Amino acid sequence: MTQPLTRTDTIAYRGSGSAVYLNITNRCSCACAFCLREWTDGVYGEVLTLTHEPEPEEVTRSVELEFLEGPADEVVFCGFGEPTMRLDVVLAVTEWLRLRRIPARLDTNGHGQLLNPALDVPAALMAAGLSTVTVSLNAADPESYDRICRPLFAKAYRAVIQFAEQCVKHDIQTTLTAVDCPGADLAGCEAIATAMGAGFRARGLAAPRGRDDAEKGKA
Ligand code: SF4
Repeated sequence: MTQPLTRTDTIAYRGSGSAVYLNITNRCSCACAFCLREWTDGVYGEVLTLTHEPEPEEVTRSVELEFLEGPADEVVFCGFGEPTMRLDVVLAVTEWLRLRRIPARLDTNGHGQLLNPALDVPAALMAAGLSTVTVSLNAADPESYDRICRPLFAKAYRAVIQFAEQCVKHDIQTTLTAVDCPGADLAGCEAIATAMGAGFRARGLAAPRGRDDAEKGKA
């Protein structure tokens, strides 16, 4: 059922499950053909367009307020942009969550190492206490990836796979995902995930404002 958008500049929000989602940036190093940002300003009744990028204290305050509304099984870096564009915030908030025994998940396009070359990003995420990572692969070959995800970086596809492989090596529970759009090679994506010891999940094209399970704000 379609929900009206109710809040603006949302940092923490809920979808249909038992997670709290975090929206910390609208910037992204991809321009995916299916990106929600192309045709809506929010999901799940929330406006995710940010007028400013929140600092860690503002994010953790938003988490606290969301938990006052009720418990959640995990907190997910997600939102209307690529969280690792702000890796310092992801690491600081993950550490804050770890100290409170709240599992943290990162939904990412897998460009974290490309965006933060000075750091071993999977190792830093593991050290901060990240439990789970979901990496958007979306294609079983570099040419398809470039066509579907339109990355800012050349040779991004190999970097996405390496990022996921490193997350697996650092014992972060890792799942590769692919959007089930026309022509998608879901079997090929699943084979890549299986070969590296990661899970795989196909995702439906997102419904921007409905409370179904298709999407939580990031494709
Ligand atoms: S779908 Fe996700 S990775 Fe792709 S452009 Fe949108 S925010 Fe970035």
